Amino acid sequence: MKRKLLSCIVALIMSFLVVMEVSAASTTRLGGQDRFDVSINVSKNGWKTSSTVVLANWDAYGDALAAGPLAYKHNAPILLTKSNVLNSRTKSEIQRLKTKSVIIVGGSISVSENIVKELKNMGISVKRIAGNSRMEVANNIALEMGNSSRVVIADGFNFPDALSIAPYAARNGYPILLTNKKHNLDKSTQNIINQRKITETIISGGPLSVSDQVFKSVPNPRRFGGNSRYAVSANIAKAYFSSSSTAFVTRGTVFADALTGSVLAAKRNAPILLIKPNDLPIAIKSYIANQGVGNFTLLGGPISVSEKTNNTLRHPIVGQTIVLDPGHGGKDPGAVGNSLAEKEIVLDIAKRVNSKLNQSLANVVMTRETDVFLELQERVELAEKSGADIFVSIHVNSFSSPSANGTETYYDETHAPKESRELAEEIQKELLKALGTTDRGVKKSGFYVIKNSKMPSVLVEIAFISNGNDAKKLADTTYRQKAADAIYRGIMNYYE
Ligand SMILES: [Zn+2]
Repeated sequence: MKRKLLSCIVALIMSFLVVMEVSAASTTRLGGQDRFDVSINVSKNGWKTSSTVVLANWDAYGDALAAGPLAYKHNAPILLTKSNVLNSRTKSEIQRLKTKSVIIVGGSISVSENIVKELKNMGISVKRIAGNSRMEVANNIALEMGNSSRVVIADGFNFPDALSIAPYAARNGYPILLTNKKHNLDKSTQNIINQRKITETIISGGPLSVSDQVFKSVPNPRRFGGNSRYAVSANIAKAYFSSSSTAFVTRGTVFADALTGSVLAAKRNAPILLIKPNDLPIAIKSYIANQGVGNFTLLGGPISVSEKTNNTLRHPIVGQTIVLDPGHGGKDPGAVGNSLAEKEIVLDIAKRVNSKLNQSLANVVMTRETDVFLELQERVELAEKSGADIFVSIHVNSFSSPSANGTETYYDETHAPKESRELAEEIQKELLKALGTTDRGVKKSGFYVIKNSKMPSVLVEIAFISNGNDAKKLADTTYRQKAADAIYRGIMNYYE
């Protein structure tokens, strides 16, 4: 009886582990027809009620750049308004939240006295944080937030860098101070820094946004630069959100969605990753792939973050660690024949698979990227050490009789037999389709690397180097690309 119970529990744990292993990437879109909708959907997603709301102008980011940390401090969403009239959707969101007080950021040109009146008529108390310039508004927000051991400095006349750092600044209660048009600090801003016992000054953006002069003048500066706004956001994420498997994704050329999303991102301990609507910049891609991020909140509708991007992000391969193992290398050429060496062919094909998988945001680890020799055990250890989710060893075949030809894929039943077999079947199927080679089938065999790798693992024999027809294909870069595409598709199919 007891034993039965125990085995039940073991089975339960095992099935749980299997479910855990194939946990898919997911996306949630907080969209809408315009930025008002997006801010309201962010608010609905993050707050059941909120006694405080921060209100900012819908198209002038200057006064709102520093608002994220203030909103977070009050656990308040940021909503948007036109200057003169409170939009009816924003108004009803304020009602839904049962808001008692509204903090307006910016002067009466940004958010008019008319709106103050309207809010007061709703029985809501209103506080305005203003200033003669956006720098002053930021300073006054900093004063309102109280003392802190760190401050953030960002460009006051462009928004991306300030918004990329906002979730981190918000979570830690660090105010965001802004540079002036010359990318320097106003006297009043310097005063705020001087008055605090600052242990580190975080500078978001390169020297063209926050000058080197500022960098040299502040206590213990740490700069997050990059060759684009996208790279800056990726660098910030890498530094401060490396333990987070979630991220907020939004268009880098419009401020509103990033602004209103930044408070929710802070609540979820997620970075804001800036992207192009239809394209994930390289820095962002490598952040997602290498960090194993699998959970995305998209800020904005399909015009801001396209459906194509959405589909890329939610594919289950995103963030999976895939080890590609080109066989042989260095002193070991592998099979040779028809003026070809296995070690060269398989490395070339593996590199091509690598670049395809990178495009799909998988975290690819190659056992070798050059013509070097590795013991089989080293290959297995590398996979283990990198936390591989699957292992794909790439080889080409050879036989004493030149008539032997075709494609075969091996798996082993020692570890993850079912998954290994599925992976082998998917790759084999795609290779046959792409190369038109003879189907030698999916086979079981205890090759060292697939017998000893604990994750689902396969060994592919693409074709025979010793057969004239097969070798012709292996020599041809078009066919190598076809083989790589096929292995890639097989892996994608396995995850689907
Ligand atoms: Zn081989």
